[in-house]
Amino acid sequence: MRALQYLLTGFFALSASVVFAAGGVVDSPTGTAPDRYAYYPGTEALKKDEIRLIACGTGLPAARRDQAATCFLAELGNGDKFLFDVGTGSMANVAALMIPYDFLDKVFLTHLHTDHWGDLATLWAGGWTAGRTKPLRVWGPTGATDDMGTAYAIDHFLKAYNWDAITRNFVLSAEPGQITVKEFDYKAVNAVVYQENGVTIRSLPAIHAGDGPVSFILEYAGLKVVIGGDTFPNRWFIEHATDADLAIHETFLTPTDLVRLYGQSPGQAIGVGTQIHTSPQAFGKVMSTIKPRHAVGYHFFNEQATHDNVLLGIRQVYSGPLSLAVDNMVWNISKEAIVERMIVSPDQAWAVNGPNKPPAPPAPGTIPDPISDYIKEGRWQPAEEAQAPMVDEFKKENNLN
Ligand SMILES: [Zn+2]
Ligand SMILES: [Zn+2]
Repeated sequence: MRALQYLLTGFFALSASVVFAAGGVVDSPTGTAPDRYAYYPGTEALKKDEIRLIACGTGLPAARRDQAATCFLAELGNGDKFLFDVGTGSMANVAALMIPYDFLDKVFLTHLHTDHWGDLATLWAGGWTAGRTKPLRVWGPTGATDDMGTAYAIDHFLKAYNWDAITRNFVLSAEPGQITVKEFDYKAVNAVVYQENGVTIRSLPAIHAGDGPVSFILEYAGLKVVIGGDTFPNRWFIEHATDADLAIHETFLTPTDLVRLYGQSPGQAIGVGTQIHTSPQAFGKVMSTIKPRHAVGYHFFNEQATHDNVLLGIRQVYSGPLSLAVDNMVWNISKEAIVERMIVSPDQAWAVNGPNKPPAPPAPGTIPDPISDYIKEGRWQPAEEAQAPMVDEFKKENNLN
């Protein structure tokens, strides 16, 4: 059903440069199938001048097992990877890609609503325990006042998770538990916020809920991908997202569906759906104006009951190539083509080691033990005795004292 839905979305959207990768001939009963409309993570090398963009979260602040909150992962042919937002629940989709955590150290935040950074905790602590060898790097906007900016948020994030950090610091190197923040001016227009290794990332102001939110433009190998954060359509996006190869912009549920399905009052729904966010018609107007090679709408619970209403609203105004994103949709972007597929990944993924060895944990005695003698004295000896043979055997096998 899902696949059919996307194909129908695509049906309106087929153009010379957009390929929906299903089909191919299976010419032998013992052979392999060429295209399955699927991407199996970790099985395809990226070409030097190619971008793979993965939707790891496309939903809303309220949790839903089928759709996490905002997160886009950009993987570049030069080896760089960038997370754009890491919304609530999205790390389960990121983890299922089985990418070593050392390669997931760069995070760009559009704004500080939980549906855009709520899973930073999961990336931070989960990555720390699962092989990241260096600090996380976070880029994000300033706010109207210091206490509304990204630096304040990260500083207090680390304070809120102090118990987590102190207890992990005792058994792990503290370095991967650190976060370095690069805050940039939310008002700056098309300003460079990152430039390394042939990659440029720029920011644009957005109009959403309060001062501070931004959108990002990623430029690499002559390709331009625009990652729109939450916003009412704004003139900076219209001016600078023009000529995008892939343009992502939010499109919200219709006010009718916000009332019908999200339990909002009509007054709330019209405010949230058409002023704080972007309605399907307004999204269509943005895309029919900037004319990207491929447009992506996200930020609504995308299901049978909502999909057509959003699509119909957009199609009143925009007839170009379009995806209405769901989690685990992936686009391979090159000069030649933009290929859209769905990801097939394991529900029970393990962390994968990268090439770097984790830094050594602190030497015994160098850090205060976070467990007191009072608590330690409560250890129940029969448990120790029950596991003693297994512990001895393991120590012997691994030359541990
Ligand atoms: Zn928001
Ligand atoms: Zn949002």
